[in-house]
Amino acid sequence: MFATRFAPSPTGRLHKGHAFSALTAWRAARDAGGRFILRIEDIDPTRCRPEFEAGILEDLRWLGLDWETPVRRQSEHLTDYATVVDVLNRRGLLYRCFRTRKDILDAIGDAPHGAAEALRPGPHPADEEATLLAEGRPFAWRLSLDRAREVLGGRAWGALAFVEEGRGPGGERGLIRARPETAGDVVVARKDAGAAYHVAVTHDDDLQRVTHVIRGEDLFEATHIQVLLQALMGWPTPVYRHHRLLTGDDGRRFAKRDNSVTLAQLRAEGASPETLRAGLGF
Ligand code: GLU
Repeated sequence: MFATRFAPSPTGRLHKGHAFSALTAWRAARDAGGRFILRIEDIDPTRCRPEFEAGILEDLRWLGLDWETPVRRQSEHLTDYATVVDVLNRRGLLYRCFRTRKDILDAIGDAPHGAAEALRPGPHPADEEATLLAEGRPFAWRLSLDRAREVLGGRAWGALAFVEEGRGPGGERGLIRARPETAGDVVVARKDAGAAYHVAVTHDDDLQRVTHVIRGEDLFEATHIQVLLQALMGWPTPVYRHHRLLTGDDGRRFAKRDNSVTLAQLRAEGASPETLRAGLGF
């Protein structure tokens, strides 16, 4: 059965861009007679706040959306994601990386072959790793693309692909070969903070039997890594529909960090959900 989801992170109030994304997914589910899932992606305790989650539910209800209950809140399922990390780790797919974000950025600046090399720093030499561990230094677990290729085998690696029914930022559409190497050896977990976004999102898309991932084109690149994780975990790859990002009157994308006008503000100014929906094409 067709199933899609809207998966916001409660790091701020929703703006029109979110409304467009949520309505796009919700309408697709209704048109297909399928399921619409709302998932709260709150695994990052430093950025997510319960009041933002409450605001999201309020805004979406005001917009006229409905969804399956209970709503999955990722922070309540951290052990699920830790189990995935453990499975990957036991298969030798991960390595500890003690480099900071700044180390990686500096290396990108210095890399003769560009970012691709710096994004795959590789494991530390064993003695160095032992010292850093003994010093109690923080580290991240990175997914080794070299190992992933070995584990999957050349043929399966070459066949990594997904169907794009929307369009990527470069107009990509149809059957697309996944290129996990563009993102490099991504971080799948941190020593203290547990599993990272890619793990939680692919785990839940599988668990919730999501058949169509409908989301903004800003997440198109993430799909390449997510398809690899699905292959490694034996999870089916859903169909993807990336949509364009809505821009404001100034031609710029809506984003939380720009203090874009929120749905709550629009509501307070007397906007009606009908007008807002119509303005967004719904
Ligand atoms: N939680 C992610 C975000 O708010 C979206 C994840 C997804 O749609 O796959 O950016």
